[in-house]
Parts: sequence; structure tokens; C-alpha cells
Amino acid sequence: MQFIRISTFVSGGFRVDNLYLPQAKDMSTSTDNFYRARVVDRADLAADLWTVRIAPEGPFSFVAGQYATLGVENLGKRVERAYSIVSSPYEPELEFFIELVSDGELTPLLHQLRHGNELTMRRAIKGRFTLDLQSGRKRHLMLATVTGVAPYVSFVRTLYRDWKAGQFPADIELFLLHAASRSWELGYREELQKIASEVPWLQYVPTVSRPWEDPAWQGETGRIEDLLRKYADMWECEPGETTAYLCGHALMIESAAGILKRRGFPKDTMLQELYWVPPKQQGKALPS
Ligand SMILES: Cc1cc2nc3c(=O)[nH]c(=O)nc-3n(C[C@H](O)[C@H](O)[C@H](O)COP(=O)(O)OP(=O)(O)OC[C@H]3O[C@@H](n4cnc5c(N)ncnc54)[C@H](O)[C@@H]3O)c2cc1C
Repeated sequence: MQFIRISTFVSGGFRVDNLYLPQAKDMSTSTDNFYRARVVDRADLAADLWTVRIAPEGPFSFVAGQYATLGVENLGKRVERAYSIVSSPYEPELEFFIELVSDGELTPLLHQLRHGNELTMRRAIKGRFTLDLQSGRKRHLMLATVTGVAPYVSFVRTLYRDWKAGQFPADIELFLLHAASRSWELGYREELQKIASEVPWLQYVPTVSRPWEDPAWQGETGRIEDLLRKYADMWECEPGETTAYLCGHALMIESAAGILKRRGFPKDTMLQELYWVPPKQQGKALPS
């Protein structure tokens, strides 16, 4: 299989089209809205948390921050859900960071997939949760719970490659606050720390909200809601020159958006990617 890549600057970020030139024997690409895709790599972070790389059977293109719709055929029915893409558009495969919902419809099926197993992926990759390069705001404050870091890893991988190639798109800085209950759930922590130590445009703070279950953890503790004011001050993320991104757990998004609103962030400067909504969100305590 041979790929050619075309890099295009588009509104909202860079898009790289992975256009693959099929050989005669590869011409089995689906004709409908779906691709078959094969699992080519997998790493388990915890019993209910894993990363997976898939190779779709045909060409795809997307902007960092968008999501793909993955599916598994079960009992004659295709079960599908949205998953933010972790990988950069420059990469030839797609990577995801997934949490198992034990009573969920799709994640128990996805969790069974191993190297070589197949799933489906919709050809159309969608989403508006992309890096804001149009507004002129220089600061980008990114908040994530656990798997909500996925679109930010895609931003960072893409920008890192551009930066190394001397093609950093604009005068921007990224500030990332990533929360999980325990440190081993902070997927991509080492990668993000390494890049943050190397480049002038990324600050990364991982935080753990249940340090009593992770006594070896030496880093920041508390939830996003507890730390947001401190880091917004420290990083000088003022409304007017900052775009905020909130991704993951619905209650974190609601609380953090409230804090930012009270600091003067207009609604249209806060992008939100809500992964799921608890059935009875009202009146529920925040998860620790
Ligand atoms: C744009 C977008 C991007 C997304 N990206 C990701 C991603 O990168 N990684 C990822 O893991 N998920 C992501 N999600 C969530 C994903 O689409 C599914 O909703 C999730 O994987 C659960 O699917 P399921 O079929 O197993 O559970 P469902 O059958 O859909 O849900 C069963 C029950 O579990 C609840 N539930 C759903 N998710 C969770 C959860 N995480 N924890 C606890 N309860 C839950 C539901 O409210 C429901 O009551 C994303 C969602 C959207 C809309």
C-alpha cells in the first residue's frame, strides 16, 4: 500500500490528506459510508482504559481535534459511537484513547478487539472542536478529564511536527490542565511532558484527584474545578486573549465553564466537547 500526503492549511488548523494509492489487490474499499479498519496496535493503561491504533482500508482526512465514528457489528446490528482522534493528521493510522463503560453498548465490544481484529469507521470525520487560529487570540487554555485529552494530543502532535519543520502556524501558546483520579489514567502524560520540556509554546499540568489511592504521585492534586483559577492566573489566560477548550466529563465542563464565565469569558470563546451526559446530572456531586 502506498500513501501520498497533501498538507493544506484550512480554517481551524492544518489538514493532511492521507491519500492512499491502492494497488490492484487493495481495491476492496467499501463503496458505502463505512470503511473496514484493522486494529494495528493497542496498549492498556488500566483494566478499563486503553489506547488503540487502527488502519482504515481507504483514505481519510481530518483536522486535529475532530472525531471519528467507530462501530462494531454485533448480532447483525452495527453499534456506533464517536471517538476523538488522538493522532495527528500527519500520521498514516488513527489512534484513540477509550474508557470502558462496563454496561455500555459499544465499549465492551471495542475492549475485546485485539491486533488484527476488524471494526468499522465512518468515512466522514467530523467535529468543530479544532484549534482556533482565526480569532487572533494567542492563548489556548485546554481542560480535560481522562480521555478528554485526546483532541489536545492531536493538536500538540500536529504543532510539534510543524514547529520542528519551521512551520509553526502562528504566535500561539497552549496551556493544558489534565485531570484523572489516579496517575496511571493520565494517558499521554510522558509524551506531553517531554514535548512541553522541549518547546516554548506548551505548558502541561497533570493532576490527580484521588492521591490517597496513588501515594507515589508527587504532582499536582485536585480536580480541574479546584485548580482552574490558580492556573488561569499563573498562565495569564485572560478573557479577550484566550480561547478555552473543555473536553470530557459533563460535570467538569459545566463547572469549568461556569468558573470561566464568571471570570469574563464570553460563551463564544469557550469550545466544548461533551463525551457523555450522566442520566441525572442535576444535583449530583462532582466525581472525585
Ligand atoms: C464528540 C465525541 C467524542 C468522544 N470521544 C471519546 C473518546 O475519545 N474516548 C472515549 O472513551 N469516549 C469518547 N466519547 C464517548 C463515546 O462516544 C461513548 O459515549 C462512550 O464510549 C460510551 O459508549 P458505550 O456504547 O459503551 O456506552 P452507552 O451504551 O452509550 O452508555 C451506557 C451508559 O453509560 C453512560 N456513560 C457513557 N460514557 C460514560 C463514561 N465515560 N463513564 C461513565 N458512564 C458513561 C451513558 O450516559 C449511559 O447511561 C466521545 C463522545 C463524543 C460525543
